[in-house]
Amino acid sequence: MNTDVLLPTKENIDKVGRLLRDGQIAAIPTETVYGLAANALDGNSVKNIFSAKGRPMDNPLIVHISDFSQIEKFSLVSDIPEKAYMLTEKFWPGPLTIIMPKGSAVPNEVSAGLDTVAVRLPAHPVARAVIKAADRPLAAPSANTSGSPSPTSSAHVLHDLNGKIPAILDGGLCEVGVESTVVTLVGDCPTLLRPGGVTLEQLQTVIGKVNVSDAVLNKLRDGEKAESPGMKYKHYAPKANLILVRSDDDKYIKYVNAHSTALVGALCYDEDITELSVKCFPFGKKSDCAEQANRLFDALREIDRTNIQTVYGRCPDTHGMAMAVYNRLVRAAGFEVIELA
Ligand code: AMP
Ligand code: MG
Repeated sequence: MNTDVLLPTKENIDKVGRLLRDGQIAAIPTETVYGLAANALDGNSVKNIFSAKGRPMDNPLIVHISDFSQIEKFSLVSDIPEKAYMLTEKFWPGPLTIIMPKGSAVPNEVSAGLDTVAVRLPAHPVARAVIKAADRPLAAPSANTSGSPSPTSSAHVLHDLNGKIPAILDGGLCEVGVESTVVTLVGDCPTLLRPGGVTLEQLQTVIGKVNVSDAVLNKLRDGEKAESPGMKYKHYAPKANLILVRSDDDKYIKYVNAHSTALVGALCYDEDITELSVKCFPFGKKSDCAEQANRLFDALREIDRTNIQTVYGRCPDTHGMAMAVYNRLVRAAGFEVIELA
C-alpha cells in the first residue's frame, strides 16, 4: 500500500473523511500526538487500527468527537455523569479524555470488552474538521507502532506506518506532545488513569478530590489488575537501555561523566549539555515541563537514530505537567531508576 502524506487542505480533509466512511484508517494530527483514526461505530474498521499498530486487542481506544452533542446523538455514553459536564465545560476542546459508562452504539473492539468508554473532544482544528468530514466519531489511538514512542510529527508516523495505512494528514508538530490526560468518572471517586496536558491539580480545582491510579507512577505488581489496560505495557521505549537517575544536578553530571564511553548517552535538560562529556539528547529546559513534554518523544526517537546503547535520563518530579513527563519516562525506562543520595 502507498502511504500519501497530505497537506490539510479542505480537499484532502474531505478525502480522508471519505476514506474513513469507507471503513479505512488514516493518521490525523491532534494537539496531543498524531492519532490513527477509524470509524468508532464500526468494529471492523476499528480492527484495522489494531493490525496496523500491532496493538494488543485488550487495550481500548479513545473515541474522538467534534462536538459535545455527538455523545448523545451517537449513543456513545449510557449516562453522562454530572462531573463530566463540569470537566468538559472547563477543558474541552482539549487534551482531556473522560471515561464514562458505555453507550449501546460503541462496539466491543473500541472498549476492548469493558462496559466503559473513553471520550475526547480534541482542540486541533484539523482533527475536528476530519471528524466533521467523516460525519461520525473516530476511534484514534496514537499513530505509532505499539510500544514505540508516540508520534508528534508526520515524519514519526511515516517512519512507523509507511505502507500500512493509505494516508497521513500533515498538521505540523503537535503542540502538547504527550497523550491526553485520562480520568475515569466511573466508580466512587474520580481517578486519574494517565497524566497529560491537563494536570491533576487542574482537575481537582474543578471537581474536588481526584485519586491517582497506582499504575500512574509505579510499576504494577505481578498479577495486579490495571485500571487502564494501556498502563500494563512497556511503552515509549527506545532500543537503547534507558536508565533514569534521580539526583541533584551536580550528582547527575558527575555520575554520567564517570560512565562516559562512545556508547553512552544522556537524555538531559538543555542546561546539562555543556557539562556532559557524552552524546546528549536534550528534551527541554529544566524549569519548563511543558517544553519537556513537547520534545520528549522526538528525543526518544533520536536515540534510535544512533548506535548509543545506554542512556542516562533525568528524572523529573511529579507535580503539575512534570507528572506526565515522569509517567512516560519511567515507562520508557522499564521502571529502572537509580537513586543517588
Ligand atoms: P492511546 O489511545 O494509545 O492514547 O491510549 C488510550 C489509553 O486510554 C490507554 O492507556 C487505554 O488503556 C486507556 N483507555 C481507553 N479506554 C479506556 C477505558 N474504557 N477504561 C480505562 N482505560 C481506557
Ligand atoms: Mg498509544
